[in-house]
Amino acid sequence: MQEFIAQHILPKVTKPSQYIGDEWNIIKKDWDQCRIKSAFLFPDVYEIGMSHLGLRILYHVVNQRDEYLMERSFAPMVDMEELMRARQIPLFSWESYRPLKEFDLLGFTLQYEMSYTNILNMIDLSGIPLRSKERDHRFPLIIAGGPCAYNPEPLADFIDLFVLGEGEEVLLEIMDLLNDEKSKDGAFDKYQFLKKAAQIRGIYVPQFYQPVYLENGLLQEVKVLEADVPEIVYKRVITNFSEADFPEKTMVPHTEAIHDRVMLEILRGCSRGCRFCQAGIIYRPVRERDVEKLLDQAETLIESTGYDEIALTSLSSLDYTCIDPLIKELLKRFQEQKVGISLPSLRVDAFSVDLARKVQQVRKSGLTFAPEAGSQRLRDVINKGVREEDILETVTAAFSQGWTSIKLYFMIGLPTETYEDLDGIADLAAKILGLGRRVKPKGIKKPISITVSASSFVPKAHTPFQWAGQEGANSLREKQHYLKDKFHSMKNVTFNYHDVEVSFLEAAFARGDRRLGDVLEQAWQSGCKFDGWSEHFKYHLWMEAFTACGLDPVFFANRNFGEDEVLPWDHLSSGVSKSWLLKEYHKAIEEKPTPDCRENPCHGCGVCPQMDLWPELLEGRK
Ligand code: SF4
Repeated sequence: MQEFIAQHILPKVTKPSQYIGDEWNIIKKDWDQCRIKSAFLFPDVYEIGMSHLGLRILYHVVNQRDEYLMERSFAPMVDMEELMRARQIPLFSWESYRPLKEFDLLGFTLQYEMSYTNILNMIDLSGIPLRSKERDHRFPLIIAGGPCAYNPEPLADFIDLFVLGEGEEVLLEIMDLLNDEKSKDGAFDKYQFLKKAAQIRGIYVPQFYQPVYLENGLLQEVKVLEADVPEIVYKRVITNFSEADFPEKTMVPHTEAIHDRVMLEILRGCSRGCRFCQAGIIYRPVRERDVEKLLDQAETLIESTGYDEIALTSLSSLDYTCIDPLIKELLKRFQEQKVGISLPSLRVDAFSVDLARKVQQVRKSGLTFAPEAGSQRLRDVINKGVREEDILETVTAAFSQGWTSIKLYFMIGLPTETYEDLDGIADLAAKILGLGRRVKPKGIKKPISITVSASSFVPKAHTPFQWAGQEGANSLREKQHYLKDKFHSMKNVTFNYHDVEVSFLEAAFARGDRRLGDVLEQAWQSGCKFDGWSEHFKYHLWMEAFTACGLDPVFFANRNFGEDEVLPWDHLSSGVSKSWLLKEYHKAIEEKPTPDCRENPCHGCGVCPQMDLWPELLEGRK
């Protein structure tokens, strides 16, 4: 098949190199020697999927086991898919070019809701029935994990089991169980397998849970249908993050990937507690990797890949206790090789600018900060512990050290937001611009420029704002226009904003229940895919799908959920308690902040006792 595709298909498609496979450092195993064959499926294009750290980690973890293999597959672009369907070529893996249907296990990562139609499309393109109930022992088991697995209900009918939390250990447990069950005499009994899998911590098998709805459409309860299946499924965390195995070789993509560099995962989790942020809740508690280990990993990875850049990745890299010595040592070790260091996100403080300056000894780029809200009042509501003085001090430090361009990220439509808060965004940008012009070193001719990006707030499951409905699309659009007008007269300020319709659908699926599975299938049937890509997004087809299924997206996206309402994800737990989330929601309305538990006493979010694991911080911190 590989030869046929290379000769007859690839010459006719865009970016053909993405489909070639055989990249540097991939692992090709003897198919017949492996007992369980799995594939990691990224439901978007190759250049995005190859940047995914989870793929790099799990690919390494599984392929280390002699008896198992893991290959990769990505969503083919529209032109490729058309040709594949016309020639009846099923979706294949990038390593062996085998049809995905021949694998034992297919695992999707759920990174964003707008990739859901791609999941259906990839299953269908593999010649596999869409719904879990239609797949017997002849088909691969289809599993999924990642952040969206914390409310997987819209996908519940299509996926056999979901993994909640960190996959490194539990994935191998699933494969071990699958291996045991497949080694038994007779045909593989999928039901028995799923029954056993459901008893492993971190695994949610949706067919054993039945949502029951009231006449008014609200959820009455989620019934547990089988004995020995937990009423609440808790997430998994790996037992020893600092010691956890990390890939020493990493695949180097053929085409340029979004993050085309070595990724050093310096810590997991974030305890800052921004009330809109799902990642800040689901990856708790904070765990940091040892500096020496990271330095060793960096050396091995640079040597094995030839990359000339190391990204220090995490939710909040500058919170890493030893960030300063780590950066100093990395710069020292890689100075001669001219390997650059990149920090994906900066904190709003002068220390960040100082570190950025050190890092920029090798590379030059603009600086990005995320105040998220324009007024102090609203920053207190969302618990973004940043004051205006911090922002101004930070940008002063940046401009006086020679930076001329700064990006600022905000959200609009946050709970309790008023037009005064929007004025705060414009005022802040104006102040920053004025400051920049005043403190810019003489000799730098380039004018100061600012890019302001405003995304629309999307309420997410398992956050304090999970109860808050998203602001209506018209109202959000008015706010976008209001800001656009304000920035129109400001020279050297660029204003970007996101498509309101995409955010609306994202909110509907982020807070949706199992009934949305029909909408998803209907939308996909009528041609929706790559919904996160503006050139492919077909809003009218989505609205038709909702109408055809008798459901209103406003009910899921824009409604404030009742505080005593059963939520579609209440039977799934990140370890953080619902009562703490609700307390945080109330504090938000009262505009009261909650301090970071790194430097302050534990405020009882519940994850540490639940996971029997406390924050693991390097010396100098608790
Ligand atoms: S349980 Fe306490 S220490 Fe642990 S993450 Fe929550 S607030 Fe922080």
